[in-house]
Amino acid sequence: MEQTIFELSRPGRVGVRMPACDVPTKPLEALLPGVALRDELPLPELSEPEVVRHFVRISNLNYCVDKGLYPLGSCTMKYNPKINDVAVNMPGFARVHPYQPEETAQGAIEVLYEMQSWLSTILGMDAVSLQPAAGAHGELLGLMLIRAYHVHRGDGETRRLVLVPTAAHGTNPASAARCGYKVVDVKTNERGLTDLEHLKEQLAKNEGHIAGFMLTNPNTVGLFEEEILEISRLVHEAGGLMYCDGANMNALVGTVRPGDMGFDVMHVNLHKTFSVPHGGGGPGSGPVGVKKILEPFLPVPMAVKNDDGTFSLDSDRPLSIGKVGPYAGAYLAVVRSFAYLLHYGREKLPQISENSVLNASYLKAKLSKTFAVAYDRPCMHEAVFSLERLKKDYNVKALDVCKRIIDYGFHPPTMYFPLIVPECLMIEPTESESMETLDAFVEALEAIAQEAADTPALVQGAPYTAPVKRLDEPFAARNLDVAWK
Ligand SMILES: *Cc1c(COP(=O)(O)O)cnc(C)c1O
Repeated sequence: MEQTIFELSRPGRVGVRMPACDVPTKPLEALLPGVALRDELPLPELSEPEVVRHFVRISNLNYCVDKGLYPLGSCTMKYNPKINDVAVNMPGFARVHPYQPEETAQGAIEVLYEMQSWLSTILGMDAVSLQPAAGAHGELLGLMLIRAYHVHRGDGETRRLVLVPTAAHGTNPASAARCGYKVVDVKTNERGLTDLEHLKEQLAKNEGHIAGFMLTNPNTVGLFEEEILEISRLVHEAGGLMYCDGANMNALVGTVRPGDMGFDVMHVNLHKTFSVPHGGGGPGSGPVGVKKILEPFLPVPMAVKNDDGTFSLDSDRPLSIGKVGPYAGAYLAVVRSFAYLLHYGREKLPQISENSVLNASYLKAKLSKTFAVAYDRPCMHEAVFSLERLKKDYNVKALDVCKRIIDYGFHPPTMYFPLIVPECLMIEPTESESMETLDAFVEALEAIAQEAADTPALVQGAPYTAPVKRLDEPFAARNLDVAWK
């Protein structure tokens, strides 16, 4: 496409000169029909400093990874390298249009192709779709693929059950139900792992009806499923497929591949494991990887490399389930993650998982002197504690501790998930935090545990320094329109 200067040439407005980019010079009147043109846009008249101060002031009310530790378990909140912002602001990425002729967007499609192949390698899968917009969306796609597989083989109508552990993230049973499946529970044993005996029971009881098993590994209490090969074998033997909830990939990147554990299909969250901002910083992206048997059913389009070395978006896939989202996915989220992966490079990828496991293990070792570890086994990228004792002894709940840690300058960890651990705190420091930061966090929690013993009311009433005081939760739940009392 010709490289030109874009000028806003509406009468009565000063022409705004933009740097050379991929938008052709044409008067707006030539681009839009008359009815779509307005003479006036009633925007408030504000100076640049006023606008800047407004946004900086509201951004200061917020807490973010650029301000400090954000130790959410499960929903990995990683540092977002600034190089990612440089990448997404390049005009060829930022201004690419989904209806642009392919020959003018070769580099942009190449990034999609490369990302499909990097993720396939990292996950140990044969193909990857970048279309889903979130993890839950990827789960839905994964289950639709499982369904397409069974329907194609002729037992789609008899295989209507999906196994889900009781410890699973809420999106797992929700996605299964959304896809028309009935959920069958699998218990977690006292060691925090899938209860093999219960799994066998459920498989036997529902013989011929199991479509698949949705499992998170490392699982939702941060432990590696040691019996994963046996679990996969049992489920495959029963005619089901293995779905991996890859939200915990941070523990595995570059070290272990779910494809080698027997999983047939999985999603990853680019907005967790691969450093795209989340929690208001979106949009997200939840690519889905599959083994060969599911590849024909993947959504369209797929980025492909042609024999002559050019790249295209291929929609000629007769068995495809269709589309689960617009175009090729959340494009700039993919660009951010690709920049992040290139930033590490192939050789250094294992550092991501090694350091995240090291950091979590360090925290677990130090904090186990203060709080009870939910399952006393080597953790992976996150550690789970139960604060039941604190509640029994001083009536200080996990919620109170989380509110109080705000006063110490930290974002609270994940609490009350997974549901199977009472008064649960789930902490994931991620690989990018220093030992000093982790020590400061542990000291804060130790101080709060001491406060709980000495002056419980202090912890129960926190926070005192945040822009917003503790919400009156029962009031907020009953008065949704006036929650800010
Ligand atoms: C975050 C998460 C999901 C869902 O991902 P979203 O991108 O939030 O939809 C699923 N499972 C687990 C274990 C998660 O942590």
